[in-house]
Amino acid sequence: MTRICLSVGRVEDLQSDAMQSADMAELRLDMTGWPLDPLPEKPFIATLGGLEGQSRAEAAEWALSAGAELIDVGDGDDAIDEGRKMASHHDWERTPSWEEILRLLGGMRGGLRKGAFMVNSLRDLVNIKQAADLIAGRHVMLGMGELGVITRIRSQLLGNEFTYAHGGKATAPGQLSAQEMRRLGGDALLLGIVGRPLGHSSSPAMHRAAMDATGLAGRYLRLDVPDLDGLAAFMKFYDVRGLNVTIPYKVEALAHLDALDASAAAVGAVNTISNEDGRLVGYNTDVLGVKEALSEAGLVIEGSEALVLGAGGAAMACCHALLSEGCGVTVSNRDMSKAEALAQRFGCSAAGVPRSLERFDLIVNCTPLGMEGYPSLAPLEVELIGEGHTVFDMVYRPRETPLIREASARGARTIEGAEMLLHQAMASFRIWTGLDAPKRVMMEAIL
Ligand code: NAP
Repeated sequence: MTRICLSVGRVEDLQSDAMQSADMAELRLDMTGWPLDPLPEKPFIATLGGLEGQSRAEAAEWALSAGAELIDVGDGDDAIDEGRKMASHHDWERTPSWEEILRLLGGMRGGLRKGAFMVNSLRDLVNIKQAADLIAGRHVMLGMGELGVITRIRSQLLGNEFTYAHGGKATAPGQLSAQEMRRLGGDALLLGIVGRPLGHSSSPAMHRAAMDATGLAGRYLRLDVPDLDGLAAFMKFYDVRGLNVTIPYKVEALAHLDALDASAAAVGAVNTISNEDGRLVGYNTDVLGVKEALSEAGLVIEGSEALVLGAGGAAMACCHALLSEGCGVTVSNRDMSKAEALAQRFGCSAAGVPRSLERFDLIVNCTPLGMEGYPSLAPLEVELIGEGHTVFDMVYRPRETPLIREASARGARTIEGAEMLLHQAMASFRIWTGLDAPKRVMMEAIL
């Protein structure tokens, strides 16, 4: 594992638990001041950033005499022996192409060169890895911001001499604490979710709880990205074991994969990618989520008749799940042309919202109606629902939607969207790790 360097902006951090987890320290002399007494007990480097003129020269002189391994001069031309000089470049806005990174760092003189770049996309992370592979000599290459976290965890793959961590207060965006870096180690299991926006996603909480409950040292990353450019190289370069895929990339992701399982191929969308020894395989665990939620509620799917409301991605997964289990399916959507296209593709029926629900056993809401931020309505005339019906609402926030409340009041059996959410997550976790995460633990994470 790469050495962990505690970035010290407060002198008291040198005596902290974080220092125990670190292998070395970076003294931010502009923040700590100098001379320091006592000196760090571990090897240290000193950073001159923020210092100018006479005080900068004095700080450098003190750090050299105090035994600093390296003096980080940024892009300054301080007169320091090259063996102990560290040249660094920071771009707080963007990550350049790998060619530009090499040009930038290649033009800097120092025994060790550092490049730190704000990461805005998966392509940026690929560029950092490509530059790290090609740069000659000792280096530290890292990405800043939430998307850059992976460059800190996979520092070893980047060939870095060390990587930075904080002792309670990050000195750069995306820095993890020294304790967290030590806990993760170099081989941490990396999972995550790719989509935009991700603000409301329950997946990070569920999968982090699953990792804790199964004792896996790992991290579930939030990858809020503008596109999927570089997805495959990103997963392979950084040894990412698996990703969830959410809106708006469930269909677009197909083009980046090496193979699809039967459910993903039938639905034409993926919500799970598994990196199987460098081969990216796409799955659609929403299909399993539907089946498990229904069978756990005691519904015998085979031979039942279902009305599916909506014709988007969730409706497609639902139709495939039901039809593959021998259920009759009628699709209804406000844009009927989409319902008809879906029915034709899956070999089922399409109809306008029915005036009677008598011939249906199961009603599934695959529209966002009732979801927080959408009209708080049920997607059909609730007076038509009776005791013989099972009503499954895919909307999971709030847990009790208007449809669930009304159906329950009319004596129907109800199934909440959270059930499907949990089962699709458990299925993804099983694909990635081979382990069964406790449902209760994952449920508690989203309550
Ligand atoms: P989608 O691909 O965008 O499809 C949305 C569907 O809902 C479309 O058929 C759309 O009709 C219809 N719709 C949207 N707004 C409507 C409105 N105001 N009135 C009537 N119909 C409306 O979305 P999706 O991925 O299928 O997701 C649908 C819902 O399922 C979301 O609430 C999502 O959170 C939920 N979901 C839950 C789970 C789970 O695990 N519980 C999994 C996946 C999805 P048009 O075609 O006419 O636009």
